[in-house]
Amino acid sequence: SAFEYAPAPQSASVVDVAPSYGLFIDGEFRESADGKVFKTVSPSTEEVLSEVAQAGSEDVQAAVKAARRAFEKWSALPGAERAKYLFRIARIVQERSRELAVLETLDNGKPIRETRDADLPLVAAHFFYYAGWADKLGHAGYGPDPKPLGVAAQVIPWNFPLLMLAWKIAPALATGNTVVLKPAETTPLSALFFADICRQAGLPRGVVNIITGDGPVGAELVAHEDVNKVAFTGSTAVGKEIARTVAGTRKKLTLELGGKGANIVFDDAPIDQTVEGVVNGIFFNQGQVCCAGSRLLVQESVADELLESLKRRLGTLRVGDPLDKNTDIGAINSAEQLARITALAEAGEAEGADRWSPACELPSSGYWFAPTLFTGVSQAHRIAREEIFGPVLSVLTFRTPDEAVAKANNTPYGLSAGIWTEKGSRILKMASKLRAGVVWSNTFNKFDPTSPFGGYKESGFGREGGRHGLEAYLDV
Ligand code: NAD
Repeated sequence: SAFEYAPAPQSASVVDVAPSYGLFIDGEFRESADGKVFKTVSPSTEEVLSEVAQAGSEDVQAAVKAARRAFEKWSALPGAERAKYLFRIARIVQERSRELAVLETLDNGKPIRETRDADLPLVAAHFFYYAGWADKLGHAGYGPDPKPLGVAAQVIPWNFPLLMLAWKIAPALATGNTVVLKPAETTPLSALFFADICRQAGLPRGVVNIITGDGPVGAELVAHEDVNKVAFTGSTAVGKEIARTVAGTRKKLTLELGGKGANIVFDDAPIDQTVEGVVNGIFFNQGQVCCAGSRLLVQESVADELLESLKRRLGTLRVGDPLDKNTDIGAINSAEQLARITALAEAGEAEGADRWSPACELPSSGYWFAPTLFTGVSQAHRIAREEIFGPVLSVLTFRTPDEAVAKANNTPYGLSAGIWTEKGSRILKMASKLRAGVVWSNTFNKFDPTSPFGGYKESGFGREGGRHGLEAYLDV
């Protein structure tokens, strides 16, 4: 298939990590105007991978100016011409996916099996999918000739660096917008590698600009007066700050924020398949997933049996070197994130929940957290209410479907939920009552570029993916 990945042994030598990287502005790499740099480290070893340019005000100005200049020509191209560039980018991503997967794993700490089999195929799929829309916008249901917005400022997090870039850049370019994107400060490398792919694809200069740096750079970018659209994925706190900045301007805004997803297991669910789904729901990417199934709601009558199987399965997870193809659980992305997870797990114990982890040896350097299960959790506990963004599962029980729905919805968030049952009618009834942007049934963490994704309540607003994802980048 088009998304086939050639299996091959992975090693760090697959990709040349440059000792330093510049900003990508107006089609070329350059130092920041004031020459400042920051270091990006491997979370699994704490070794410095590279020095990356730290953008300042002048660089933000230059990037937005380049995007504005490029917008006139890019937006005037026939959709079929824009599609050619997107198809080309998608194919180069496929061709270079071994390098990209290794680079992403080095910078982020996630297992190579995940970058290889999930992140990279999905990145290519997003570019293929939106390439297909570029010449069909008149048929998307938004009027015969919908117009692009202009310059899009896009700020993304560190948990799926390249995939979040694809979710943002592919629909923006397909609809005729130009982009200034800022990756997270702990994972800048794959975005800069992608900039090189844009060059390789012959993308006109200024259509995609990548500026690297920390939060204040993102704040300056979204506040820039010549930006027409802001797209953000990250924490709810920063999302609210951005909403305040954008309020009172004419910028269009989409926010993809945190979550506290419930994975709801009924007594008729097939136990082995369910255990796999629950494990995938919370331990995929070390639980650093906004739509993670971080609350397990299990029907009381099967709770003991399920927990026993779950513990047995957790005992078989391999924690360690993310570049090892057999690794299930890699490193936590940063020391800060590890500290947040540690603090919340400690709060769980302090509030009286029972903590359990399988016996597993953690590497001596790097940022690691053992897979962790909390039972005896009440809805009032912080570990049941707050997003942990780590490999920590909070287990609660319920008796009736109504009680399950009430508990699942008892959260300020509303991004995801899962239902495990053999009863189709129950799935349909529950799905319509759950206040969650995506409801999976008998599976979890499944993504597809054709499906819109996004949240209710404090999980944000707007949708990315699918036909709905076009709307965020069009005047309709
Ligand atoms: P964050 O929201 O601080 O960072 C996300 C991105 O926003 C980064 O690129 C960052 O540089 C940028 N940023 C930070 N402050 C900004 C500002 N004031 N204006 C504009 N851009 C700004 O997220 P974090 O600190 O990396 O993680 C904190 C928590 O956020 C995590 O524990 C987790 O709960 C949540 N999170 C959610 C997602 C998600 O996909 N929904 C992703 C990452 C983190």
